[in-house]
Amino acid sequence: MPIEPPRGTNDHGPDAMARRRAVEGILRETAQRFGFREIGTPTLESLELFTAKSGPGIVKELYAFKDKGGRDVALRPEFTASIVRFYLSELRNLPKPIKVYSVGNVFRYEEPQKGRYREFTQFNAEIIGAPALPGDAEVIALALECLRAVGIKEVQVRIGHIGLLRSYLRLAPEDQGKVLHWLDKRNFTALREELRRLELQDLEDPLRRFVELKGGVEIFTKAAEALPGVRPQGFEYLRSLAARLRDYGVENVTFDLGVVRGLDYYTGMVFEVDSPNLGAEKQVMGGGAYNLAETLGGDPVPQTGFAFGLDRILMAADAEGVKLPTSRLDCFVIPIGEPAQSRGIEVLRDLRRAGVSADIDLAARGPSKNLDYANALRARYAVLIGEAELNKRLVSVKDLDSGKQEEIPLEALIERARGQRPRA
Ligand code: AMP
Repeated sequence: MPIEPPRGTNDHGPDAMARRRAVEGILRETAQRFGFREIGTPTLESLELFTAKSGPGIVKELYAFKDKGGRDVALRPEFTASIVRFYLSELRNLPKPIKVYSVGNVFRYEEPQKGRYREFTQFNAEIIGAPALPGDAEVIALALECLRAVGIKEVQVRIGHIGLLRSYLRLAPEDQGKVLHWLDKRNFTALREELRRLELQDLEDPLRRFVELKGGVEIFTKAAEALPGVRPQGFEYLRSLAARLRDYGVENVTFDLGVVRGLDYYTGMVFEVDSPNLGAEKQVMGGGAYNLAETLGGDPVPQTGFAFGLDRILMAADAEGVKLPTSRLDCFVIPIGEPAQSRGIEVLRDLRRAGVSADIDLAARGPSKNLDYANALRARYAVLIGEAELNKRLVSVKDLDSGKQEEIPLEALIERARGQRPRA
């Protein structure tokens, strides 16, 4: 029996990997354009980093174990906690606001299904130390620009405010976390039980009505009716945020008071973006404003950010038929006959040194088998070198898209291959 990869994990072949790298490249480039800089943190962290404040949802999904020194460690289930840990130990010395992003794999012991894995890649961006309104608007604008840059057009942005529920549910943090968790999961049976335990069963109906409110500013009146006494500042904030987003050219936001987010550290604005073309796992990204620095022992500092699931972006792009730019092999060199072999390697070396991707026959095949192989690799040009080309110090270049073939000097081939290279 061949060994299978662990449940919920994926292998990615060369074509799939090229697509992933292409999207990753677009996301990185977009974040850089917005003034965000990349940072890296370990895949393995101390367990306590996540048990401190990530919330019950994340903790029960952790891949946690003892290392050989008996230390409790966990594979990261997300980036934010690591970034804040890094901020507290070092990044805090950078001028604020600090705008950073990270890309990498994260691990969650979830029930796998289409679009939901146990190991997946996230693209994460954070702003630390900017006032709430400009910071929140900037991260939402970045999130939407990332999708636009990939070519995804059909998206729905839903913005809510977790501070509204938090200020209403004046409970111990752990109890509040549980109530919000069940609201996030829309598990109303578990919510009822939790509220009963807290002797707050009267809140079930109002909370349910509140999280089901979705639409324009008109829902704020209904929300205030559903939860009498809820602090109005949250609604005012959402209005100002929508106005600021309009300055960024973001018009079509929907307010959704049911955006609760599974993580315990969110405190203010929360938002999610869906691709309506995907099935059950249609959420391509989520984020919001949070306060983790204080929880992890630092001074309070405003923080806001989001994470994209790379697999979901790819699925959304596929669903819309977006053509992703992928790099192709430029040249496949085919020396014909013994005397051409060393010239073939010379040509290969010159192409590679000139920055042109090039490969050569390693399997001692004949020219027609080599052409099949070059076509299967989707190379752009086959570079044939036989006796005639050797004598003329030229190369025969076959354009594998058009089938056209001509004899040209190597320098002309380099020029052509460099000039026609699509965006990698
Ligand atoms: P979260 O950190 O839970 O807010 O997730 C942020 C984004 O990561 C989501 O919007 C999804 O796109 C993606 N995501 C979350 N969980 C998974 C998973 N199990 N498999 C694949 N993508 C996921």
